Amino acid sequence: MFLRPHHLLCMQKFSGHGYSPAFTAHMSALLQKLHLHPETPVTLICRCDDLCTACPHNQDGICESAEKVAHLDAGVREAASLSGDTSGTWADLSSLARSRILLTDAFHTICSCCEWYPLCRETEVSNGQNQHICAEIPHD
Ligand code: SF4
Repeated sequence: MFLRPHHLLCMQKFSGHGYSPAFTAHMSALLQKLHLHPETPVTLICRCDDLCTACPHNQDGICESAEKVAHLDAGVREAASLSGDTSGTWADLSSLARSRILLTDAFHTICSCCEWYPLCRETEVSNGQNQHICAEIPHD
């Protein structure tokens, strides 16, 4: 799976809201896959990724908010000491994003410019399993 660095934050903060019904459905599907398979290989890329494919702001592979998302990606890369096209498992990279950013003041520094920040600020992350998705998946 290919992900933009800042999507390590957005995906763990997802609470069922998004740019469109198609986008939220796609986000939920990706998160359910990662919930079931946390060892999924992830490569971080600073261009449109596997989440962006369903985003209405993706114009032929170019993000309409390119400047904002580049700023967010740079913030994540710096705070988490990530260089180049880093690869790892979802479990490891999401854990890194939590310990370096989501559970620290870096989250507020990086994300306060985002229109979703007021919502994400109120959404807790704990163990790498998105709480909204955990609630959606039926358990035996
Ligand atoms: S505030 Fe924006 S960039 Fe930060 S986690 Fe939420 S949606 Fe992602």
